[in-house]
Parts: sequence; C-alpha cells; structure tokens
Amino acid sequence: MTANATRVLVLNSGSSSLKYQLLDMSDTQSTGGSAAGRLAVGLVERIGEETSRLAHTPLATGGDKRETEGPIADHEAALKAVAAELAADGLGLDSPELAAIGHRVVHGGLKFTAPTVIDDAVLKEIERLVPVAPLHNPANLIGIRTAQALRPDLPQVAVFDTAFHTTMPEYAARYAIDVATADAHRIRRYGFHGTSHAYVSRKTAALLGKDPSEVNVIVLHLGNGASASAVAGGRCVDTSMGLTPLEGLVMGTRSGDIDPAVTFHLKRVAGMSTDEIDVLLNKKSGLVGLCGDNDMREIRRRIDEGDERAELAFDIYIHRLKKYIGAYTAVLGRVDAVAFTAGVGENAAPVREAALAGLEELGMAVDASLNAVRSDEPRLISPEYARVAVAVVPTDEELEIAQQTYALVNA
Ligand code: AMP
Repeated sequence: MTANATRVLVLNSGSSSLKYQLLDMSDTQSTGGSAAGRLAVGLVERIGEETSRLAHTPLATGGDKRETEGPIADHEAALKAVAAELAADGLGLDSPELAAIGHRVVHGGLKFTAPTVIDDAVLKEIERLVPVAPLHNPANLIGIRTAQALRPDLPQVAVFDTAFHTTMPEYAARYAIDVATADAHRIRRYGFHGTSHAYVSRKTAALLGKDPSEVNVIVLHLGNGASASAVAGGRCVDTSMGLTPLEGLVMGTRSGDIDPAVTFHLKRVAGMSTDEIDVLLNKKSGLVGLCGDNDMREIRRRIDEGDERAELAFDIYIHRLKKYIGAYTAVLGRVDAVAFTAGVGENAAPVREAALAGLEELGMAVDASLNAVRSDEPRLISPEYARVAVAVVPTDEELEIAQQTYALVNA
C-alpha cells in the first residue's frame, strides 16, 4: 500500500444487488466522520434481470446522479460497471490511492469477532456458515470473489454483521433447547446489524461527552429490518435478532418473535411447506402482513385518515418495541441512553414518542418539540429533567465498515 493510499471502497452485496461507497479516510478522520470524505455512492439493483439498474452519484466532482438501465448479468458484471462509472469520475479502482476494499459480510458465526483480512481460510469459513445464513453469505462471497478478481493485489477486509454481538454472555446467546442438538447445528443467537449497533452506541456516548466504556445504551435500529441491543460499557450484552434476522421486533415484512409452535401448526393444520412458512414469516408478516404496508410514512398517513388496520399494526409494532426497552432496562440495570436509528428510528417522530410514552418511571421521556426537529445530525430529544438521555443517531454502516477496514490495513 502506498503512503497516500487513503481511499476505501465499501461493498455490500445482496442476492440481486450491490451497494457501494468510495470514501476518503483522510477526510473522514479530519471531519470526525462527516460526509466530507464520501467520494461516490451508488447501487446496482435487479442483477441478473433484463431491467437491472445502476444509480451512481459522484460526490467528489459534485456531479448529478447518473442512472443507467439494462441487463447486468451477474455480480462480476455489476462490479465492472461500477468500476467504469468510478473511472469516468477519475476515481478508478486501479488508482494507487485505493487502500483496501471493505465487504459487509452478514454472518461471521462465533469465529469472527473483529474485522478480518480475507484469505482462502477466511473465505472457506464464510462458506461454512452458509447453512446458517443461506440468503446472505453466498451473495457476500460473490462480491468478495469478484472484487478479488478485479484487484488481486489489494487487501480485502470482511466486516461482519454478527461481530459486535459476539460479546453476548452465554446465557443470553443460548436458546433453552437440547444442548447437543443446538451445538451439532450451531443453533444459537448471533444477532445482526452489529456494525450499526457498534457505530450508534459509540456515537451516543460521544453525544453525551463520555467514553463508550462509561455508558449503558439501548440501541433501537428500526429500519425495514429492525433490532434492539443492550450495550453495557461499549460491549453488547443482548440483542433481539437470533439465529437469523427473524427474531425480535416487529419489522417491515418479518414477524419478529412468535411462538415456535405456530410453524408446526401451519405445517400440520394449514398444510404449508417449510419454504412457504419461511416466506410467510420473513416476507409477508410484520407491518406488511398486519396492514398491507411496510412504509411507516404510509402507515402514519392511513392512521391520520382513521384507518383501523394501520392503527392496530402501529400499536403492535410499538407494544413489541416497549417490551424490549423494558427487558433491556432490566438486563442493563442502569440505562444512560436510548438511541433511535435507521429509517424509522431516524425519521418517524410518532414512533419515538409512542415507544417511550408512559416510561417516565424508567426515567425515559421525549420532549415533543425536540422530537419534531428534522436533522441529519445526532441529537438529544429528551427533556432536561429526564434521567435517561434519548437520542436520535443517524446510522452509517458504510462509514463504520470503511473505518474498520482502514484501521486494520494500517495497523
Ligand atoms: P432502512 O431499512 O433503514 O432504510 O429503513 C427503511 C424504512 O424507513 C422504510 O420502510 C420506512 O418505513 C422508514 N422511513 C424512511 N423515511 C421515513 C420517514 N420520513 N418517516 C417515517 N418512516 C420513514
């Protein structure tokens, strides 16, 4: 790596998508991680279809978003198309300024507790984890192999969604099922969105002017996928997602917690196949299953018009959220802050208000006028008197991946 190699390309490969950001880490460090270091951002969607779409925004040149449509056969073609867009802005992947490529990898099992430079052994281990992450790890592997083929000389770093949660104590991570069966099939609670929980809990401590080791934070990552975590002194001690991202909160399309016997019932009584139940619980449940919409903006609009189904869906969503806030208060013993993040958490003031309504006895309250403020900056929305700080902290998983990647290759 050359001395002035300060750029990191972050790749987030989904089964039919590729999200990317090119960041200049000299800038992000000097600005405390603001958007100033972002050189380009983009997304390739519908890979493998006739109507693939690439949207690329060259922030470094101040240029407009460029969108192209047309078939992109696979992830290799997608990354090559991205490389061509970057090259057109003078940001090509062949640049000596590129220090590393950081990959989001969803499942790192128990082995990967920190970002890891990818070699053959690491690739094999990510592959070994495919049975516990069948939707995500194969796509992540394709992204890594494609990037390696394009720049074999460059360090490629895996940043795992599960890593932040590997500090969970055994009593929080284990399901109360037969130990031999659980161990034979690596069944336990791994947790996801770890990069976001790590970033947001640290940012929340900074907002309070404290070191992460000094504060206990409940992080509520409420996006289309949603998860809560209890973070004690910078270490995750519990999180709501489990073996897969299905467990926990009510999400856009996932049920979150249900009695596992519902699945036997669907099989035995409703005659559904395992795959059909999988689709039902992951894609057709949650807010969309309850009211037909998974966008919180639309749900709030319908509630304002008096739609009872939308209102019930909202109430179920909030009730679950409250139960986790209560549970994690008990787990942590002392809570210094509750932090809201991701699409819903950052934008939906009514969700934040309803989630903490009536929790004054726990020291939690929301100031209505602070809660109504719209901003991209981390901010407090609790009144002066409240014992627990309530924060809105925009998450930035790409920046976190880039920082971890850059720190590792410079270590
Ligand atoms: P994410 O997965 O973090 O990108 O979050 C996506 C979700 O955030 C969407 O499905 C919406 O429900 C929600 N969302 C985004 N913008 C807003 C907004 N302005 N108000 C309420 N909810 C929003």
